[in-house]
Amino acid sequence: MGQNLKLDQEKLKILNRQNILNIIRNSKEISRGDLTEKTGLSPTTVSTITNELMENNMIAEICVGESSGGRKPIIFGLNKHAKYVITIRLTYRGAILDLVDMECNPIYRKEFKEYLDNEIKVRKMISTCLENIMSDFSENVERIVGIGISVPGVIDYKDNLVIYSSRLHLSNFDMGDAVRSVIDKKTYIFKDTDSMILGEYYFGEGREYKDLVYILVENGIGMSYVNSGKLFRLPRGGFELGHTTITSTGPKCQCGSVGCLGMLVSEMPALLRLNELIKEGMETSFSQASNLNYIDIIRASNNDDKASRQVIEEQAEKLGIGMANIVNLLNPELIIIGGPLIYSKWDLISCIKKSIKKHALEPYTDKLNIKFSKFGHESSPLGMANFILEDEVFIPINI
Ligand SMILES: [Zn+2]
Repeated sequence: MGQNLKLDQEKLKILNRQNILNIIRNSKEISRGDLTEKTGLSPTTVSTITNELMENNMIAEICVGESSGGRKPIIFGLNKHAKYVITIRLTYRGAILDLVDMECNPIYRKEFKEYLDNEIKVRKMISTCLENIMSDFSENVERIVGIGISVPGVIDYKDNLVIYSSRLHLSNFDMGDAVRSVIDKKTYIFKDTDSMILGEYYFGEGREYKDLVYILVENGIGMSYVNSGKLFRLPRGGFELGHTTITSTGPKCQCGSVGCLGMLVSEMPALLRLNELIKEGMETSFSQASNLNYIDIIRASNNDDKASRQVIEEQAEKLGIGMANIVNLLNPELIIIGGPLIYSKWDLISCIKKSIKKHALEPYTDKLNIKFSKFGHESSPLGMANFILEDEVFIPINI
């Protein structure tokens, strides 16, 4: 009995400490008096906990506040340099390495450009990234609470395994082991779009929503889903929107099927379609499409290039069909579109909406919001860092 009571008190102390830390984080600056009021704890308990958090350097007295008569109140704030997260965004073109502080500000960045198309190169890239941090921040390695790695491909996030990545030419690649061979820190791997939806959900277009979908349209199509405020993940992949069938004909996909959404909407299909229109003699400033990128076609569509505009409008119609399927299945409040399409300056979203309305259930489309991503690829380090901080430092509690 006595033992249980002691355990409960110990648990309560941890919860109170966590609650105070989270409140200080969310309020940016707060006085001891306001902390007492917000938590309903005794001033003595609040003092004990804030003293302990100061001793651990998690918080600091940031200034002495305005006095309303009597002693001036002490204002607490987070010591943002108490903990750090490393994030690495892997693409087939290389890696972007960030060190992110406790307020989710990236404070250090390095970009490594090298084509990553096999296991050895990916392993070496992970080592290079981590060794850079360890030499440039040698005195702060202790403060690193976790390492987030975003990967284009199918992942097993529980075992830190890349099950398959056609972009990086990986299969059953043990990312946890690649990290462990350099540094002993907890590793979190994310599908690329998972890191992006998290960044938008915490800080960007998704902040006001609890049920949202992120669709990345660039070299193929990716998708992620936040359900009731939580990243929805399946243990071994899923949400392969790019391989959902939207027509029974069309070019053959590498997955073996035909009519896959990713084969009809994204960079390569846009280039192929533009070439067709050029051959048909449609008005355009381009003489051929082979050396262009998706973004070139989108920019040209902004400048009244007829063929480019036609290509993107056709893609909007097809993307709308793919999105209507998501709307019918998940009924999200918001769909965020990422990738080069966000640089279109005409009413592309209206085109997509029109197509969705044609194909999805009306009660679901009425309240549906569609937005372009706020941060683009920059949402990736933000999303990973905040996710890891909430798992390691600012663990949400329900009292
Ligand atoms: Zn496919």
